[in-house]
Amino acid sequence: MSLVLIDGAKGEGGGQVLRSSLALSLITGRPVRIDNIRAKRAKSGLMRQHLTAVQAAAEIGAAQLNGASLGSSRLTFTPTQLKAGEYHFAIGTAGSTMLVLQTILLPLLLADGPSRVILEGGTHNPMAPPYDFIERVYLPLLNRMGGQVTASLVRAGFYPAGGGRCVIDITPTQQLGRLDLLERGPLLKRSVRAVVAQLPRHIAERELHQVLSALDWPEECGCIEALSGTASPGNVLMAELTFEGITEVFTAFGERGKPAEQVADDLLSQVQTYLTTDAPIGEHLADQLLLPLGLATHQGATPSTFLTSPLSDHVTTHIDVLHQFLDLKISTKRTTDGTILLHLSSP
Ligand code: AMP
Repeated sequence: MSLVLIDGAKGEGGGQVLRSSLALSLITGRPVRIDNIRAKRAKSGLMRQHLTAVQAAAEIGAAQLNGASLGSSRLTFTPTQLKAGEYHFAIGTAGSTMLVLQTILLPLLLADGPSRVILEGGTHNPMAPPYDFIERVYLPLLNRMGGQVTASLVRAGFYPAGGGRCVIDITPTQQLGRLDLLERGPLLKRSVRAVVAQLPRHIAERELHQVLSALDWPEECGCIEALSGTASPGNVLMAELTFEGITEVFTAFGERGKPAEQVADDLLSQVQTYLTTDAPIGEHLADQLLLPLGLATHQGATPSTFLTSPLSDHVTTHIDVLHQFLDLKISTKRTTDGTILLHLSSP
């Protein structure tokens, strides 16, 4: 099998290039060399979370590794055999467990038997899909495509201590189905949840008050979850919008020195951006959906289409990575109302 050469500095230049390259290498069996890993991030190279993703990918694919060390900017990954099974991956920091999952989930979904994956580290991290997004948004879509994946959160983990834990059960499928996601359909439910772990309840109250009044949503749409027993304090504010055709989750994170009202404003701007168009697929979901839909198309499913807005650099970079591994064509087209239509088909 010919070696795939990926330049990690191209496009968005972050961790997704690495994670998707590993996933695609595992699925296609093609070895990959990734240069300039995360070249466009302030601390480039493999951080603890990325190294865990590399090691996890190597374990499930019995892969040979070259360059798998902290700070490394070049990795060669040669998988030999994809193995379903019971796995336990602990990041050892608050690095995102969900990003480690993003690396190994699709390969395990296409493996030859059921798998259980236990992940330890951060479960709610800025600049990563929070656990709730994976459970409520991503996995239901994957399951609509024929997967059978369930997730349970044992304990939330926040920066800086991590200590979160979740369990993912995967029943494989040999063929992923296509999806068309062009309309939201009627709104069925809307809610905002303010999570405070070992922090005063008034933080959550102020966040909810600000978001609900700005959106003009009734008080019953808000709820507070006060967690104890986490390894470090944490504050997450999440809005969930359930339409007939799609559920989306938006997330803002509290941090030391950031007022609750600012956390609320971060969330508000995401929800308002989403609500200004009719596109069902939000910015983050768009780049994450490309991998399963790309695989379905590569496996021979009829074309898939989805409507998103806005178009992120993560999406355009991810398209380039997919094109390097898979036999498929992905096109983007701006519609008259400014949303973006993505179409995945055979070449
Ligand atoms: P990277 O920046 O290359 O490490 O990739 C980050 C990944 O996390 C991308 O797939 C993003 O779509 C995803 N992501 C970042 N923030 C969120 C969020 N708030 N909700 C869902 N996914 C997110």
